[in-house]
Amino acid sequence: MPSFVVVITGIPGVGKSTITRRAMERARVEYRLLNFGDLMFEEAVKQGLVKHRDEMRKLSLDVQKKLQLRAAEKIREIAEKEPVILDTHCTIRTPLGYLLGFPKDVIKTINPNFIVIIEAFPSEILGRRLRDLKRDRDVETEEQIKRHQDLNRAAAIVYAMYSDALIKIIENHEDKGLEEAVEELVKILDLAVGKYA
Ligand code: AMP
Ligand code: MG
Repeated sequence: MPSFVVVITGIPGVGKSTITRRAMERARVEYRLLNFGDLMFEEAVKQGLVKHRDEMRKLSLDVQKKLQLRAAEKIREIAEKEPVILDTHCTIRTPLGYLLGFPKDVIKTINPNFIVIIEAFPSEILGRRLRDLKRDRDVETEEQIKRHQDLNRAAAIVYAMYSDALIKIIENHEDKGLEEAVEELVKILDLAVGKYA
């Protein structure tokens, strides 16, 4: 079975959605964009567990892990038919501690080709979060943001160990960083040319 999966991660406010959208417009390959949170949320709502997506990270760990695995199985099924971009997180900050976005079964099920980590300076991320009031974001200090980004790199190493993934870090800075970031992502997306022929 062919499969080409690009996992795109980055902490809330880093500019992940913007970069992904623009790169998809420019890529030579048509991707299916999946959002891990959406897939988990659909299932969580069906089971009557939550009403809002920002409640999911507060569910019991067992429940979150079951939701992750269900989502992973759906993602694999879709990736057998078309290239997939998966919008998600390396780690999720829960009230008790950081939850791995890809536990062992989940990373093996999805077996991504790339794990892209989009990063920015903590000060830039804080500024973007303050401007985006749509979401129920946790309030974090620059120090906490730095720690979370460091942890995400460490998590990505483990995911690469359990899959065929390469890790790509893309920086998204205020002064013309966005254009370069989009171009870097387009290069990766174009690697799927001919994969499903
Ligand atoms: P997002 O819209 O990308 O910020 O994701 C919304 C929520 O979905 C997160 O706060 C998590 O509760 C959940 N989520 C997204 N990706 C994952 C993942 N890989 N593992 C566990 N939960 C996830
Ligand atoms: Mg987003």
